[in-house]
Amino acid sequence: AKKMGRNNFQFYTPAMNEESLERVRIEGALRNALERNEFVLHYQPQVDLKTGQIVGMEALIRWKHPELGMVPPNRFIGIAEETGLIVQIGAWVLRTACAQNKAWQDAGLGRLRVAVNLSARQFGAADLIAGLESVLRDTALDPDCLEIELTESLFMSDVTPAVELLHRMKSLGVNLSIDDFGTGYSSLSYLSRFPIDVLKIDRSFVADITHDANDAAIVTSIIALAHNLKLAVIAEGVETLEQLDYLRSHGCDEMQGYFFSKPLAAEDFETLLRQRRAL
Ligand code: C2E
Ligand code: CA
Ligand code: CA
Ligand code: CA
Repeated sequence: AKKMGRNNFQFYTPAMNEESLERVRIEGALRNALERNEFVLHYQPQVDLKTGQIVGMEALIRWKHPELGMVPPNRFIGIAEETGLIVQIGAWVLRTACAQNKAWQDAGLGRLRVAVNLSARQFGAADLIAGLESVLRDTALDPDCLEIELTESLFMSDVTPAVELLHRMKSLGVNLSIDDFGTGYSSLSYLSRFPIDVLKIDRSFVADITHDANDAAIVTSIIALAHNLKLAVIAEGVETLEQLDYLRSHGCDEMQGYFFSKPLAAEDFETLLRQRRAL
């Protein structure tokens, strides 16, 4: 029996068996996916709220599985994390995103910044710094055009090695952001000690910003907190014009969300960049 909360026990059902079967299937397939070139990156624009310009993009992984079809990250990142495969997958993401950004810059499409998600396992890997260095060297991307997205969970356990590691990353010239800001359990004290550049307001706070006074208060407080600490702030999951107006009028620097664009395949992102430059 699987323990569910305090006094509830739930017995395995056929549905749960299928679920664990799918996990095993995914794990096996994940091991081959890199060699078979089954991963792709989609790019979601990040827009400056003052100028309306695209200033960057977040790289988001998808898995084009021959039988399962397009598998979203929520279905395999956790498994990749548990098995440690995320370290190799994450290295591929970093290299691909940097190479793509450099290619767009060389094509005259603008000096954009690409944001890449870093998992806890990657953060803990011994060759993190060497890996970053070699990708920056090989792709010749200006480190200032790379942003590494971290989550608060990375800072929860033993903070001292984390601070050191962040300073080493920072000394390479890359930007560091805190993803899903406000959803973690860590204390805010790390903000003054860690060399962070950007806070990303989690989309759960943005969703009801125009209807829920508490969410609005949280968002305006995060914006003020960021600016007082001399950090930039970007809102995630912006889906409506009302949300955008609210964020802009409260001084949020950038936004990312379906209102402007979903994450796009590289070709489509490039088309979007070319169209906007032609305006
Ligand atoms: P995340 O880092 O918080 O990424 C933002 C997610 O929100 C993306 O989901 C994006 O498609 C979605 N999103 C963007 N705008 C909107 C919006 O306006 N409304 C709504 N409802 N959703 C929006 P996606 O691509 O499915 O990724 C889910 C999560 O998977 C990511 O959350 C991230 O934690 C993880 N992930 C994705 N790519 C990678 C990767 O390369 N490495 C690692 N370690 N994790 C990744
Ligand atoms: Ca992210
Ligand atoms: Ca996020
Ligand atoms: Ca989120």
